[in-house]
This record gives sequence, structure tokens and C-alpha cells, in this order.
Amino acid sequence: MGVRPLPRQAAGVSEDAAPRRVLASAFALGMAPARCRLVVEPVDAGDVPVDAEPAVGHASTAEVYSALLGRAVACDRRALSLVAGDEVYVGALVALDGRPWRPPEGTVLDAAALAAVRVEWRRVAVLPPVCGQCGDVECAVSRLGYAPGRCDDGRPSRGPSP
Ligand SMILES: [Zn+2]
Repeated sequence: MGVRPLPRQAAGVSEDAAPRRVLASAFALGMAPARCRLVVEPVDAGDVPVDAEPAVGHASTAEVYSALLGRAVACDRRALSLVAGDEVYVGALVALDGRPWRPPEGTVLDAAALAAVRVEWRRVAVLPPVCGQCGDVECAVSRLGYAPGRCDDGRPSRGPSP
């Protein structure tokens, strides 16, 4: 029941397009395809690719990222439209005691406010969806969300996925 790699074209990716690696201040579901898998893993600051496209929406956050990564990170409030194969690196703000932290609405963080939090880096990998029955990314269930009757592997389909 191994997961075969999906040809990039079948995943809606052109053959010549390299996977995007993006540095962002947040991950929103609206950036990702409607059907996909997201794998989130902790990484070290040194694992954030030097050539990751900056998509950091606030100048103050870009300054903090620049300081933490030791290189200039431009503030760029672009909208992202990711496809399978892309990766987003996000610096998650965490209170110094380790609790999740979120700034109050409308707050623009200054250096003093940011000194009270730390940043934990995460890599969010956008992967193609897999069939819930056979685990195959190329099965009709994963392509369509469901397959009437049986999936490509002959296993009974559970019907449309919620
Ligand atoms: Zn299947």
C-alpha cells in the first residue's frame, strides 16, 4: 500500500516548473489546492532555503526574519497559489514560555513586542491527495475525491469524501 509518486503533470504542475519554496509569515488554507495533503514539520533556521521566495506580509516580521536568518528578507504581501510539490517555510511566533501566541487584531509588532516572543520554524509541504482506500495518489478516489463503487485498486469506495 505504498504511495507512488504522482507525476507532476498529473498533479496539475507543468513538467518544467520547479517546485516553489516560499518564506511566509503565516500559512492560510486559501494558499493551497482545495484537495491536497499538508505535511508540517519543524525545521531549524538553517534549513530555510536561502533562495526561498519572500512572502512576508509585515515589515516588522520581515525585520525579525532578517535578523533570525542572517540575511535580508523583503516584505512582500503577495497572494500565494500553491500546487503539489511546493513548500512554505513559516516562522511561527511562540510566547517565551512555549505557548502559542497571536498578536491582537490590528497590531503592528514593534521590536519590543517581538522581543517577548520567539520564532519556531516550520516547513509546510503541499502534497497531492491520496485515496483513503488504497493509499495511492493516482487512484480515481484521490483524483476525484471519490469513485462510485470501487477505487482503482478494487477496494470498495466509501463514497464522496466529506
Ligand atoms: Zn484507491
